[in-house]
Amino acid sequence: VQQCLERQAQYAGLNAFVTRASATQLQDAASTIDDSNKFNDSALVGRTIAVKDNIVTKDYPTTASSKILDEYKSPYNATVVDKLISAGALICGKTNLDEFGMGSHTRPTFTSATQSPFKREGQPLSAGGSSGGSAVAVATGQAWAALGTDTGGSVRLPAAYTGTVGFKPSYGRLSRWGVIAYANSLDTVGTLTQNVGDARIIFKALDQFDHMDPTSLSKTVRDRIAGQTTAWTENRRLRIGIPLDYNTESLSPEVRTTWSRLLQSLQDAGHSLHAVSLPSTHQALSAYYVLAPAEASSNLAKYDGVRYGHRTSGPDANPKENLPLFATTRGEGFGPEVQRRILLGAYTLSSEAMDNYFVQAQRVRRLVQSDFDNVFALQNPLLDTRTERSSDTANVDVLIAPTAPTLPPTLAEVEKLSPVEMYMNDVLTVPASLAGLPALSVPVKLGGGAKEAVDIDSVGIQVIGQFGDDELVLQVGQVIE
Ligand code: GLN
Repeated sequence: VQQCLERQAQYAGLNAFVTRASATQLQDAASTIDDSNKFNDSALVGRTIAVKDNIVTKDYPTTASSKILDEYKSPYNATVVDKLISAGALICGKTNLDEFGMGSHTRPTFTSATQSPFKREGQPLSAGGSSGGSAVAVATGQAWAALGTDTGGSVRLPAAYTGTVGFKPSYGRLSRWGVIAYANSLDTVGTLTQNVGDARIIFKALDQFDHMDPTSLSKTVRDRIAGQTTAWTENRRLRIGIPLDYNTESLSPEVRTTWSRLLQSLQDAGHSLHAVSLPSTHQALSAYYVLAPAEASSNLAKYDGVRYGHRTSGPDANPKENLPLFATTRGEGFGPEVQRRILLGAYTLSSEAMDNYFVQAQRVRRLVQSDFDNVFALQNPLLDTRTERSSDTANVDVLIAPTAPTLPPTLAEVEKLSPVEMYMNDVLTVPASLAGLPALSVPVKLGGGAKEAVDIDSVGIQVIGQFGDDELVLQVGQVIE
C-alpha cells in the first residue's frame, strides 16, 4: 500500500489514473484484511490492483473516460472486481482509457492522455491503448497488477508498448458482468502484470462461470476444456506455429529480428517450428472494423441523457425545441472517435448496407476462426465435430508472433495519424479477438538491428492458443519471458 501511494504521487504526471484511491481508503481496506484470517490461502491478499475505468465499481466513479458518463457511479461492483476483493486484493484506483475503449493510444477526448514512462530522444512515447492507464500503472509500480479489457488488442498492445505482460483469456472465461460494453461479442477482461506468474494468479481467481453474464462459458464447456487440455510437463517439446501471414511489410526491422531470434532460441531449446498459413488474416482487420462499430452503435444507444451520466443543460433540453434532449446530450457527451464509430456502425447495420458489410464481415469472422482451427492440434471445444482439415495441417500447440508491427510511436507521431492509420496498428491482435482465442503479450528483449535509440528495450511477442487452452498459453509465456 505504501509503495502504491508513493509511486502514485511520484508518477501522477503520467496520468495513468482517472480516479485514485485515497490513503485512507487503502489503509482501511488493508486493515480489514489484517483483522481477518479468511484470506489465508489467497495469493492476492494485500495486493494493490488497478481497474480500468470501463469496469464498474461501487466505491469509485466509472466514466469509461467519456463525458457522457461524467461522475457516474455504479450501485454495484463488476463480478471480476468482487472476486478480487473477496480474494483479499485492494482496489487502488480506476485507470485511463481511450473513450469507451475505442482507440490504441489512451487519448480520451475530454480528459488528458496517458503517457508512457518511456521516451525516445526526450519525446514521450504512446502507452498503447485502450488499457494504457492500466499498463502504465503496472509498469511504474503504481499498482501490483491491473485489470484491462481487450476487444481487439487493448490489453496486449499497451503491454507491448510498456514492457509489461498483457493476457487476454479465451472469450467467456472471465465474467463481463459490470464491464461497460463496447463490442460485446469481442469484449474480454484481461490483465496487465509485471510477469506471467502474476497473470496466472489473477486468472485463476477470476476464471469461473457467472450466471449474471449470459456469455460466460457454461460448466459443460469448462468441463470439456478441462478434459481435453493436457497438463504441462517441464520437458514438453512444443510444436510452435509461425503464422507467415503476420510477417507483413509493416513490421519494423527491430520487431522482425526480435521475433526470429526468439524462434531460433526456442528451436535451440528443442521445440519444433512450423510455418503455418492463416489466409483470412488479411481480411480480419476490415471485418473487425465493421463488426466492432456495429455492436458499439447498438451498445451506446442507451446513453441518452435520461438514465446515465451527462445530460445537456442548454435550451435543447427543452422538448419544445427542435432537437430532442438525447441528440444534444449525445453530441456533447461523445468524442469524435466514438461518434465516428456510432455512425459507421449505424450505417453498416442499415438495411441498404447490411448485406454488403455486416453480413460479409460475419462470414470473414467464421473464416478467421476456421483458419485457426485448421492449424491447432487441439480441437476447438466449442465445435461438436472437427471441421474438415486440409492435408498439410501443421497441428501446432501455439502460435508465436509479434503483438504490434513496430515499437511504440511518440505521442507527437500519433497526433498526425489518420483514423485508418490508427486502425492499422491492430492488425496483429484482431484475429485472435475475432476467434475468441487466448492470447498473451510478453516482453522480449530487443534483438539486434535496432535503428533508433529507444529507452524501451523490449518487443511485445504474442502467444496465441486454441480456444480454452489458456493454461498452455501462460506456460509458454513463462518459457519465453
Ligand atoms: N484499437 C482497437 C479499437 O479501437 C481495439 C480496442 C480494444 O481492444 N478495446 O477498436
